[in-house]
Amino acid sequence: MNSLSLQHNMQPTQPATDPGTNPWDDLGKVIDDALENQHFSMVYQPLLCMQTSKLLGFEALVRCQSPEFGFISPEFFIPHTEESGRIIPLGNWIYRTTLLDLKRFHQYGFSDLTMSINVSPVQLKEPGFYEQVMSCISELQLSPKNIKLELTETALIKDPQVVSRVLEAFMNAGVKIWIDDFGTGFASLSLLRKFNVDGLKIDKSFVDGICDSNEDFTLCSAIIAMAQRLDLDVVAEGIEDETQLQILSQLGCEVGQGYLLGKPNSFSKNLDIWSEKSIDLTA
Ligand code: C2E
Ligand code: CA
Ligand code: CA
Repeated sequence: MNSLSLQHNMQPTQPATDPGTNPWDDLGKVIDDALENQHFSMVYQPLLCMQTSKLLGFEALVRCQSPEFGFISPEFFIPHTEESGRIIPLGNWIYRTTLLDLKRFHQYGFSDLTMSINVSPVQLKEPGFYEQVMSCISELQLSPKNIKLELTETALIKDPQVVSRVLEAFMNAGVKIWIDDFGTGFASLSLLRKFNVDGLKIDKSFVDGICDSNEDFTLCSAIIAMAQRLDLDVVAEGIEDETQLQILSQLGCEVGQGYLLGKPNSFSKNLDIWSEKSIDLTA
């Protein structure tokens, strides 16, 4: 195996002290190479109405397939690109590719689908980000209401003034703002007071324990009830079995995402899967 060991989900614990052997340096080169030679691709995971199984939208997730190191998890390379600044060219490529694919989904007849895009805090604060995204949306003649930006709590905590200015601009333009991994940070409730958001994604870690842990059940139930009272949309992520789905649905969560409902797939694979399902429904 290559000395870098960038295999599945591998996380480096600490950078080496010798700059000549620092794996972070080498990962930078791998990412530059990936950007230059199109080793990045996008996959799309469906979001479904839990009651009707209707396809409502997708979440865009980036993938990196390096010829040298194989699959590299975004959980590994995204933090690195944020530290090195490479998230700017990568993030630009991500939103452009994703919006283009959303346009293609619409053209193939999935006309009201939404697209959720994960946005790094570093990118959100980059001057010109709002203008560039909006100009891409308008060039493609997409409706801003079909676009959801997913931000983690960490993204919202750092530089709240800059962040709230950018978020307000997006919201005024009709783009939806969502808090990802809701409940996992330290400041979830205060963020809801500080930022005007459209929806919350219940983190997979709570969904994982919903059947067996009283605490996780109570937390999911409380998040859903709170979202309803605050008039926010809510999505549960990481649903892997029928029991989780049933409990969440009974608690009033209307939209779900997870391997049970659909795994992340390429644009064309999704087109095949969902075209076939809609034919089944009309048959
Ligand atoms: P996230 O935004 O919380 O994305 C959800 C992750 O959970 C995805 O992993 C998805 O494949 C996985 N997942 C969804 N349903 C299930 C399930 O039922 N079971 C299990 N075990 N996993 C499930 P992925 O694609 O590896 O992404 C990991 C994280 O990397 C994302 O977490 C997000 O923080 C980041 N990321 C991924 N794509 C992008 C991107 O395009 N831009 C940015 N800034 N970050 C991204
Ligand atoms: Ca997300
Ligand atoms: Ca999440």
